[in-house]
Amino acid sequence: ASIFAAVEMAPRDPILGLNEAFNADTRTTKVNLGVGVYFNDNGKIPLLGAVKAAEAARLETQPPRGYQPIDGLAAYNKAVQALLFGQDSPLIANAQAVTVQALGGTGALKIGADYLKQLTPASTVYISDPSWENHRALFEAAGFKVETYPYYDAATGGVAFGAMLAKLKTLPAGSVVVLHACCHNPTGADLTDAQWDEVVAACREKGLIPFLDMAYQGFAEGIEPDAAAVRKFAASGLQFFVSSSFSKSFSLYGERVGALTLVTDSKDEAARVLSQVKRVIRTNYSNPPTHGGAVVAAVLTSPELRQQWEEELAAMRTRIREMRKGLAERLAERGVKRDLSFVTNQRGMFSYTGLSAAQVETLRTEYGIYAVSTGRICVAALNSRNLDYVADALAKAMI
Ligand code: PMP
Repeated sequence: ASIFAAVEMAPRDPILGLNEAFNADTRTTKVNLGVGVYFNDNGKIPLLGAVKAAEAARLETQPPRGYQPIDGLAAYNKAVQALLFGQDSPLIANAQAVTVQALGGTGALKIGADYLKQLTPASTVYISDPSWENHRALFEAAGFKVETYPYYDAATGGVAFGAMLAKLKTLPAGSVVVLHACCHNPTGADLTDAQWDEVVAACREKGLIPFLDMAYQGFAEGIEPDAAAVRKFAASGLQFFVSSSFSKSFSLYGERVGALTLVTDSKDEAARVLSQVKRVIRTNYSNPPTHGGAVVAAVLTSPELRQQWEEELAAMRTRIREMRKGLAERLAERGVKRDLSFVTNQRGMFSYTGLSAAQVETLRTEYGIYAVSTGRICVAALNSRNLDYVADALAKAMI
């Protein structure tokens, strides 16, 4: 018999499965609000001008295709640290932080999770309720028990902060706490500055290991303000992990550009930690691909391209805000009585609409509007042509 004869079919990925169904839908009015991708007003994934310029320059020089170092491109890793901590951070000056290039934010989480399993094998990992659906699977695959801490308050569309903090304060020392640095996925509900201070204090008090997931830096308020949580942890003197993704902020989804950063207590510690993280990478994929990291590094280190990128990022951010405002206004015009301020207050690409799985199903069957069964919609997929259509359908579902 075949060695695969008894293999069972694994469940489909809920979001990527939605994409397949969307692609198979023949209705011309269909709208994909499922996947977490930024589309421009023409409904296309943009190619940023700064990226295009950096790629053109690379094509011009035609660099040889050798292996990269295990930890990736040094200029890239350095630029990532500056984005996270600020150019003048003592963590950078003291060489206390280790950054390795990774295969997207997912790859960064995976390397981080595998390394954590060596560092602190008996820890439990706590993720927000709800969280990005891959967090649980990733940490479980690395061998951890994964639990949740309260996060979303459905009544307000905001964070159930009291419950969250109370839970964090009950966790045993050495617990790993996965925190969304900004633009929480899936709810769009973020902590305030003062709330972050309390989370940092709880992590210190309880000896927790923070793992900040930064997949949307620049999508809430801007590069600097969106790093506020990371900077608070940086200033705290604690040790922590950060996964970065540039999939969205550079519109480079398929190039798999991310990074894992570990903040240690000293330069000496950093060197030892890096040597261990490199072993994790070496036995996984050996070294990261060149192109995406080189392009991002070129943009971040050229003053002109950096300026251009920040403008393009700001335009994406502004367009998302306009879509939020436009959606909230249209829903109100169509008679939705519920307080809709959550639509405009939530940050980043997603909004948690409060729609039930059944309502989401109706949107799909009757209107060809695809959303995640939890009621999450990607606001970055709305545009001036589909906004009225989506508002019509959503209002009918919400009333
Ligand atoms: N973390 C969060 C919170 C995300 O939303 C995403 C992407 N949707 C990732 C990590 C993974 O990023 P990447 O696509 O770069 O692997």
